[in-house]
Amino acid sequence: MLLKHTPIYFDYNATAPLQSTALEAMIEWKEAPANASSVHGFGRRARQTIEKTRQLLLQAVNAKNMQVVFTSTGTEANNLALKGLKVEHIFVSAIEHPSVLKAAPQAIPIKVNGTGVIDLEAFEQLLAKTSGKALVSVMLANNETGVIQPLQKIVSIAKKYNALVHTDAVQALGKIKIDAQALGIDMMTVSAHKLGGPQGAAALLIRKGLVLESLLQGGGQEQGMRAGTENVIAISGFGAVLNQLDVKNFATVEKLRNELESELCTIDPAIKVIGDEAMRLPNTSCIVMPSISSETQLIEFDLQGFAVSAGSACSSGKVAPSHVLLAMGVKENDAKCAIRVSMGQQNTKQEVQAFIKVWKELYQRINTA
Ligand code: PLP
Repeated sequence: MLLKHTPIYFDYNATAPLQSTALEAMIEWKEAPANASSVHGFGRRARQTIEKTRQLLLQAVNAKNMQVVFTSTGTEANNLALKGLKVEHIFVSAIEHPSVLKAAPQAIPIKVNGTGVIDLEAFEQLLAKTSGKALVSVMLANNETGVIQPLQKIVSIAKKYNALVHTDAVQALGKIKIDAQALGIDMMTVSAHKLGGPQGAAALLIRKGLVLESLLQGGGQEQGMRAGTENVIAISGFGAVLNQLDVKNFATVEKLRNELESELCTIDPAIKVIGDEAMRLPNTSCIVMPSISSETQLIEFDLQGFAVSAGSACSSGKVAPSHVLLAMGVKENDAKCAIRVSMGQQNTKQEVQAFIKVWKELYQRINTA
């Protein structure tokens, strides 16, 4: 037990608790050396594990036309996608995770509308204005709002201008069905710890035939695109969760999420759910509690035993309002009062009801003070 009283966990988009199936798969490596480049039997066993997870991942997202390059994190995979492919222009949506935005500071931003969805007309105009080899990076689902992008449409516009498309699917994998071939994407980032796998295993899926320059110089691992000994133990945990992946499990989570939102919105019309007019992940709510700062809310909820977050975990503790909400045109005052509640399959109706009660008490206490 890490904490004296375990809080109710509503921060699955930051990281999901490690599933026992992943832990069991990893424990099997106890005292077994696991370098997949070794020729002996131990090495061959490690290699088989990596190849099995590779196949499970390709099947999970229907990506027979792609190859998998394992990385340590989603951050690394995003960096590899944006820095490893040599192009003249990069376009990224304004609501991307910092691991995309900071990997390509020279990128041309793509606007989103008030619902958090890419402005397709503005996007096409941007592409039409540029010539030369281009890469477009648009996330499948946003980590703060859960808003899902119309990726198939984005890809078809990009293809008109011969641009390649990368998608950050770190939040989408496991929560919604992904069909990489139907989407038509060229590269996709995923990360094990967001779906109950271990930290330390992630991947960039790359359309066969595309060659990326490794960010690290060293051995020829991962088809020469990611030097360094593979994290076999974490990759085996990743494989175990992929083996049990079923997005249908999120139907109950979606019901709980909807219950939370509709109950909170009846309290006062000033309470807003950001991105609720768009298609969203089934587990994510970005809620504005007017006039109560995100920091105050986080502290209050923490004291009451609830783990939630303000925007992305990486920017928690920072007073600046979320770049995602500002890009959507959310007023700065509202953006400063937003928190993210992200649920998982372990959450229950009782937990949601307990949170609603505490939320209402906080709102009333501050508004009548
Ligand atoms: N992309 C998105 C959308 C994320 O939410 C995150 C993590 O919060 C990342 C990338 C980075 O993934 P990792 O934590 O594996 O580096």
